[in-house]
Amino acid sequence: MSAVRDEAVHEICARFGNDATRLLDVVRAINQRLDCIDGEAMEAIAEALHLTRADVEGVVSFYSFLSTRPHGNIVIRLCDDVIDKMKGADEIASEFEHALGIRVGETTPDGRISLTTTSCIGMSDQAPAALVNDVVLPRLSLSEVRRVVRLLQAHPDGTDLRSLLVDSYGGGNNAHDLVRSAVDNSIRQAGPVLFGHMERGAALRKALALSPVEVIRVVKASRLRGRGGGGFPTGVKWEHTRGGQDERYVVCNADEGEPGTFKDRVLLTERADLVFEGMTIAGYAIGAGHGVLYLRAEYAYLREYLEHVLRERRQAGLLGTGLGGRKAFEFDIRIQMGAGAYICGEETALIESMEGKRGQPRLKPPFPASHGYLDKPTCVNNVETYCCAARILEQGAPWFSALGSKASTGTKLLSVSGDCKRPGVYEVPFGISVRELLGLCDGTGAAAVQIGGPSGRMVPPSEFGRTICFDDLATGGAVMVFDQHRDLLEIASEFLRFFIHESCGYCTPCRVGNSLLKERLDRIRAGHGSTDDVGYLRDLSATIAATSRCGLGWTSPNPVLSTLDGFPGQYERRLRDASYSLEEDTREARLIRNGRANGRGSSEGGSAAETTGVDGSDRERREATDVSGEAKR
Ligand code: SF4
Repeated sequence: MSAVRDEAVHEICARFGNDATRLLDVVRAINQRLDCIDGEAMEAIAEALHLTRADVEGVVSFYSFLSTRPHGNIVIRLCDDVIDKMKGADEIASEFEHALGIRVGETTPDGRISLTTTSCIGMSDQAPAALVNDVVLPRLSLSEVRRVVRLLQAHPDGTDLRSLLVDSYGGGNNAHDLVRSAVDNSIRQAGPVLFGHMERGAALRKALALSPVEVIRVVKASRLRGRGGGGFPTGVKWEHTRGGQDERYVVCNADEGEPGTFKDRVLLTERADLVFEGMTIAGYAIGAGHGVLYLRAEYAYLREYLEHVLRERRQAGLLGTGLGGRKAFEFDIRIQMGAGAYICGEETALIESMEGKRGQPRLKPPFPASHGYLDKPTCVNNVETYCCAARILEQGAPWFSALGSKASTGTKLLSVSGDCKRPGVYEVPFGISVRELLGLCDGTGAAAVQIGGPSGRMVPPSEFGRTICFDDLATGGAVMVFDQHRDLLEIASEFLRFFIHESCGYCTPCRVGNSLLKERLDRIRAGHGSTDDVGYLRDLSATIAATSRCGLGWTSPNPVLSTLDGFPGQYERRLRDASYSLEEDTREARLIRNGRANGRGSSEGGSAAETTGVDGSDRERREATDVSGEAKR
């Protein structure tokens, strides 16, 4: 084994130029070849790339698609986000366990098949879903689980899993030879910007007829704002990244990973040309020679197709040297695969990951516009933003800014899932109301709508007149519909579970605080909460949001805060109905205190303190105080 391992490590490291900044590619390839990256493999990688063993282990342990322990040649990853659970993910997991004879987290005795869960694979419109290596299995049923397991068991390792498992293809490019996926696009409403027809190269030709400064002026005039949710003006970002003699980079963030988000999957499948065209225009505008599309590991099934589109663009003279006849402009794009870490959707974590490190967010400033990839000026936008930029150059800023609202121009692509009859993607003008959207997706029985994924806001029916735009309900694209049968506190707890799992662990408020939040919320859900606990939830939420380092921590308390604000009855009912009231909570303590006052022994005090939970409550408060104290230090 060691000779095989050493040969694999050296061959793979050499393939990536023994370049330490390509460590993520190296460990992905070795994990795939050897079914794990054990200690000796880490030592060999460290030696080849001139890193320390700790550098390598830090990366391997960070990403969920990498493993230090041997796993099967086939890894089944069950999506366990809130939407998948609503659609029966737990029953699907049980059926896999039964059919394979193992539990989630285990490998079959013959070492061939591992079963695990993962946070979100971007298929909420066709849940429950799973990945078998790179193959997506959407719309799983119990009988489909049995069919898949039968096929996997009957065929030897090395069988082409796509040919084996996918018996019918989804629409559009899902049926392309290089995709061959059962995934559906679920395009329910195609709007004029993202799904309007554009000839390949048309936008780039118009951009190249202008000067780079004029291109930025056009983007600024369109008032395009970043589609990731934050809404920073794209033209201003390009302007900040431009200038100086430094090498610079264009990065496309294709790492959408929040439960309920899947719109970029559809754009990458159907509008890859538009994405690459937007990136190329950005490269021309800011003076970059290199672009990188960071593709989330869960979308690896699209990689070959995307590489094919890049090749076609090179052949058409739309990438490479002398673009559009301009000898001075050279630009090309490579695809960087992720390895399963939601936090890498944060732009500085994504850059760290691209550099072969743990995906931990950087302190800002400096911003990527001045110190980004390899410490060079870097423009990071997401898939949808680059698509919009390309259409703006093709059709003109007035055409784009006439759509949407004054402060939120253009259209927005929404991923709609949950309790509605028509889940899928909707390209809508900014300014559409929640109620109008519910009409489109046939979610008229909605009792709550989560706008913006778990980090967004749970909107009650009284606010369905509110609008989706940067000035009101801003969203990166996820919309989850919940009917009156759903337990919103359970959903909030599930969202917190997601953040706990996906925290990079760097700062204490986020790493510890979210666990404390979930614990207290679950206590209320179980009917053991008091009104004090509600105050505790608010105080701790404020601490986490104020003292965390990045957007995950700033927004992770939102599931609690928005349900407290929008659905106070959900809490009051549990507190009012609770067998564990504040009065009851303190009764024994009062008896003890009175007993002491009456001269009784102190031994009762010890047992009473253990059973009332008063002590635990105080301890948790102390821990919460420590959380904020440490963060301030
Ligand atoms: Fe990491 Fe959370 Fe801190 Fe962000 S807030 S840096 S995800 S620990």
